[in-house]
Amino acid sequence: MIQVNGRTYAKPRRPTVVVCLDGCDPRYLDVGNASEVFPNISRMMREGFFALADAAMPTFTNPNNVSIVTGAPPALHGISGNYYLDRKTGEEIMIVDASPMRATTILAEMSRGGVRVAAITAKDKLRKMLGHRMEGGICFSSEKAAHATRAENGIDNVEALVGRPSPDMYSPDLSLFVLDAGIKLLEQGRADLFYLSLSDLVQHAHGPGEREADAFHNAVDAKVGRLASLGAVVGLIADHGMNDKTNADGTPRVVFLEEELNHRFGADAVRVICPITDPFVKHHGALGSFVRVYLRKPLELAAVMDAAAALPGIALVLDGKSAAGRYEMPLDREGDFVAIGDTHAVIGASRAEHDLTGLHGHRLRSHGGLSEQVVPFIVSHPVNEKYRNLERTRRLRNFDIFDFALNGLAQA
Ligand code: ZN
Ligand code: ZN
Repeated sequence: MIQVNGRTYAKPRRPTVVVCLDGCDPRYLDVGNASEVFPNISRMMREGFFALADAAMPTFTNPNNVSIVTGAPPALHGISGNYYLDRKTGEEIMIVDASPMRATTILAEMSRGGVRVAAITAKDKLRKMLGHRMEGGICFSSEKAAHATRAENGIDNVEALVGRPSPDMYSPDLSLFVLDAGIKLLEQGRADLFYLSLSDLVQHAHGPGEREADAFHNAVDAKVGRLASLGAVVGLIADHGMNDKTNADGTPRVVFLEEELNHRFGADAVRVICPITDPFVKHHGALGSFVRVYLRKPLELAAVMDAAAALPGIALVLDGKSAAGRYEMPLDREGDFVAIGDTHAVIGASRAEHDLTGLHGHRLRSHGGLSEQVVPFIVSHPVNEKYRNLERTRRLRNFDIFDFALNGLAQA
């Protein structure tokens, strides 16, 4: 048994693969032709374990991937966005390494306990967080697969292993490459515990039931089926859901909050930080449904919060302390207040900071708020009674997936 952040995990008795289906809203699995699009995953939902679980807030990629691998909420591991404002220096920081992480991971402690671990991610921005404190395992991204070295990544010649060049960062293959690399490593018996994290590029562009979404998910499904047929226990989880964020006419529904508040309270009155901001902005223009607001002038906090809350599209405004408490986020990285958009609205800073030309006529789809918190939670094999019943006593979290996959299986 291995102790990690107050929880106990059994070492894998057979290969165990947790896949994070980035942006896989449960509605993608709930289309009429699901058994055709998702034959393998549909079977796992029937014959293994399926529930709905809550993602960590805010519903962005970094906080949730780190929650999944630590088995803990952001308050414990410190990652509450892709992008944050450092209160001490006033600097705005893009998180691209593990330096802001305050907790060890299940992957790291397993690797230190002698388990052979492989963590593969689509986007390189996540790689160092997933590999945090790992010892002797394999950890690389499909984005930078061509540059993987034994010294840095525990593996080289990844393109030869997978049989194709590393994909373009805006290609759906960025995700499929991750799964194919996992399949190869599993076939060659090179790891016992896997974490495979995909990209939500397709889900940002295409809604449930659209041809492109179905084609992508069908390809994912085949690879997930392959992992299971090789004898692995497969856990499927998502970091967050996804919603259409548009007006009735299909144009993006955006509240430019910094602009609005500075208009009302004076130039430079507030700074709005969009924690969705990452190097991949083409498909969402750095617009999500959760922002942190910092006062730059001695204003009455309640008055600014009231003004924000009154804007159409804003669902909820909470002061930093309340938000950190309610959503288990690290208080020292919280804003003076947070604003959460409603189901069909995103919140930005100012028009100049968000480039939406990358949408190329696509409807804006994004995440970050409470409406994207529900995600599918699937285990390929039946779980025991204790784990089956857990769902009745408390809401499952996406970061319970390693617990289920490693500790929860029914005796075969
Ligand atoms: Zn994501
Ligand atoms: Zn996204």
